[in-house]
Amino acid sequence: MDFEFRDTPKLAKFRKEVRAWLDLNMPMDFEIPDNPHDVLPHSAKYEFILKARHALGAKGWLAPTWPKEYGGGGLSMEEAAIVEGEVAQRPWSRFGVGDFFPSTITQFGVQIYAIGTEEQKKRFLPPILKGEIIRWNGSTEPDCGSDLAAVKTTAIRDGDEYVVNGTKVWLGTQYDNADYIQLIAVTDPKAARHHNIGLFCVPVGLPGISKVRLPMIRNCHTSGWQMFFDNVRVPVEYLIGGHENATNAWRVLSTATRFPQPNMGWSVRDRNQEFVLDYVRKTKRDGQLLSQDPDVREALVETEIQLEINRLFGMRQNWIAMTGKRLVGYEATQATLQGKVTTATQAEAYADILGPAALIKDPEWALFDGNIEYKHFAPVAMASAGITQEVSKMIMTRWACRVGD
Ligand SMILES: Cc1cc2nc3c(=O)[nH]c(=O)nc-3n(C[C@H](O)[C@H](O)[C@H](O)COP(=O)(O)OP(=O)(O)OC[C@H]3O[C@@H](n4cnc5c(N)ncnc54)[C@H](O)[C@@H]3O)c2cc1C
Repeated sequence: MDFEFRDTPKLAKFRKEVRAWLDLNMPMDFEIPDNPHDVLPHSAKYEFILKARHALGAKGWLAPTWPKEYGGGGLSMEEAAIVEGEVAQRPWSRFGVGDFFPSTITQFGVQIYAIGTEEQKKRFLPPILKGEIIRWNGSTEPDCGSDLAAVKTTAIRDGDEYVVNGTKVWLGTQYDNADYIQLIAVTDPKAARHHNIGLFCVPVGLPGISKVRLPMIRNCHTSGWQMFFDNVRVPVEYLIGGHENATNAWRVLSTATRFPQPNMGWSVRDRNQEFVLDYVRKTKRDGQLLSQDPDVREALVETEIQLEINRLFGMRQNWIAMTGKRLVGYEATQATLQGKVTTATQAEAYADILGPAALIKDPEWALFDGNIEYKHFAPVAMASAGITQEVSKMIMTRWACRVGD
């Protein structure tokens, strides 16, 4: 099956327009700020991302396929793929394309769209789709990760408010500040599992909310937070879908994966591989170019294979989103898992090839501005982010077993 994306003459014209706009707003000759690890507010990197995100948002290109009435671009799936693909080609994408198309839109926005009241959609979606507000995802708890239905945080109705008690972990690993918390909590402790959970959009400043740092190994960005909710009174206007949907959140918690949105970031080649290839072609060890060493060659062939599988799975996801065709059902999970596997393969290979210089970000000795060092942490940090490898495999197996039912 051919998953490659080809421009029609009309799309080629649109691509030219997009490139011209990006040349003005996200130029190719952009100098990456000094510290590629850091996304703390007011760091140069953070400010650059924010400016670019706002510009994309004002144009409707942060949420290209979404209806214009909610702040989206009203574009076709093909046009959206062009916008994302072109953004992903910019040197800026080294920050991570996800920084420009945040999960506040691709996950939380989708959930609000699915079960929010019309008033909530009008209130929350435009600033979300324009990149003006960011939410932290408050799903995981100290005793509950993969099994999300086991959350213990409660939100008990008291008139037109919900009183929230509990704790959440891992918030803010991508952005160090936020306006809202996407909170899932048990609203009816007596109801059956999966039929007892509500989804809230909680303003971070409400009385009774506190947080402590959660130091962690990270491939980039910041550490996260643990948050505590101590009798926090949340007005019903922040319960997505209102009282009627107080126990209905489960059906939208996985909605984002079913909402067709292209993600052309997948088709972009990892710059670290280019850095390493260039390095081994120029660098000698024991009088021999590294590129001639059979062990180095084997390690690089392995990373090439994994990167190509990653790209092909990504293209398949875009094809599914663009054609609306559903394959077996495990494809998105398979693509996510392959991303984790690729990162791990790269980290191991680069450490073998480059030696200690791959493991440090010291300005004098680190290679490629310390980028390889944070690549090394990525597989550790990302192994369980969002979903673990074991659970990914289990989901894929379940889908595969359904075939032929
Ligand atoms: C970098 C990073 C960022 C994150 N950001 C956020 C965030 O912003 N918001 C948020 O809410 N959460 C966040 N998380 C949490 C993440 O979603 C959880 O780590 C993930 O859901 C797994 O949960 P857990 O860590 O509790 O592991 P557990 O679910 O306790 O799993 C522990 C081990 O048991 C295995 N396991 C679990 N269930 C099964 C099963 N049924 N069958 C076989 N094996 C199983 C797992 O594969 C794993 O090896 C983040 C995590 C990381 C690492």
